[in-house]
Amino acid sequence: MYDDDSIKLIRDSVREFSERYLSSVAEKIDKENIVPRDILEKVAEMGYFSLRVPEEYGGPGLSVLESVIVVEELSRISSGIGIMSTVSGSMVPFPIIHYGSEELKEKYLGTLARGGIGAFALTEPCCGSDAASLGTRAERDGDEFVISGEKIFITNATYADFFIVAARTGKREDRHRGISLFVVDKSDCVEISKLEMMGYRGSGTSLVRFNDCRVPSANLLGEINTGFKKVMMTLNEGRITTSATGLGVMQAALEEALEYAKQRESMGKLLIDHQMVQYMLSEISRLLETSRLMVYEAARKADSRSPDLPLYSSLAKLHTATSGVEAVRLAMQVLGGLGYSKESRVERLYRDIKMIEIGDGTNEVQRMVIVKSLLGKIRVEW
Ligand SMILES: Cc1cc2nc3c(=O)[nH]c(=O)nc-3n(C[C@H](O)[C@H](O)[C@H](O)COP(=O)(O)OP(=O)(O)OC[C@H]3O[C@@H](n4cnc5c(N)ncnc54)[C@H](O)[C@@H]3O)c2cc1C
Repeated sequence: MYDDDSIKLIRDSVREFSERYLSSVAEKIDKENIVPRDILEKVAEMGYFSLRVPEEYGGPGLSVLESVIVVEELSRISSGIGIMSTVSGSMVPFPIIHYGSEELKEKYLGTLARGGIGAFALTEPCCGSDAASLGTRAERDGDEFVISGEKIFITNATYADFFIVAARTGKREDRHRGISLFVVDKSDCVEISKLEMMGYRGSGTSLVRFNDCRVPSANLLGEINTGFKKVMMTLNEGRITTSATGLGVMQAALEEALEYAKQRESMGKLLIDHQMVQYMLSEISRLLETSRLMVYEAARKADSRSPDLPLYSSLAKLHTATSGVEAVRLAMQVLGGLGYSKESRVERLYRDIKMIEIGDGTNEVQRMVIVKSLLGKIRVEW
């Protein structure tokens, strides 16, 4: 609908890939909470775990809008793989591209381009929305930093080759002014315990402990104690690609509801011919298309480096989250008892979509960002 020729080309090729390779395993990924190794390799080979890595480092060099299309199409079939692509392909490369030294770019963007996977470790058991209170410490020791602390709900952790880690380098009372961002390789000092999440399963979401991990000072991204701003900038883009997973889930729900309504009969006619069912289907479509418009517009703001990016990114995420939960609820309603059973795909979509109201900042946090933006209290710094 909104696709120009180049976007259509990307959409068609990801759709073909997803339907050919992911459709047959999506249910198994959800059930077993793991993506089979051969599927991971295929997704990586397509460059879907390195979306934003520039061509000069061997990546696909996609724009934010193009990345959104890839993530949306992957998530239409498997939200677990869609969110893996969001994190490794967008949130992990962002701080390396914008704040990393040439040496870090060569090494870590190169890892992603060769099919490696990255994770983004911000949230801690103590603090999610209140990220400025995080307690993971990075102590300088000569030419190294020693990192210790615990992170939770870290997507991709079980598959990751390296982590972007937000850690405290200043005093706790310094809050956001005492936080720095590091690249930390997966090694024996990193302890990973996989979590059983409700949706977006298979994406390796884990509790991660950094037990005195030694990293070279060169792995610091940008200046010391300036990490919080870099995290916020990363989230501006991450919220757009995370929202794109929601678009994929909503699209799948619409397709399921429409198909069912076209073949199920009730009271002498097909569901699709009942006005109240038509109302539900039209609502799902309205909620999906308005979300799509907002996510694509936010992506354009990111691609043009607009100062309005935080506002549009949070508006798109909030709208997609609330619309998504309602749209998938309606899709389940169209399917009746079948929708509530494990026999239907809508049951999985219903568990999946709730994540958008929580991950990458809750709805409440998005509202805070929106109002701060309206008051001119948020400054974009690339
Ligand atoms: C599937 C999944 C994947 C994730 N992946 C990652 C990842 O890869 N990396 C990562 O770092 N994190 C990740 N997260 C963590 C996620 O970003 C956090 O869960 C989220 O930011 C909320 O933090 P919290 O869970 O600590 O909730 P809390 O911050 O404890 O919030 C609990 C509730 O209180 C509300 N609340 C909190 N503070 C306020 C306030 N000041 N005013 C009003 N309401 C408030 C919140 O909105 C929420 O409703 C993931 C989470 C999920 C579910």
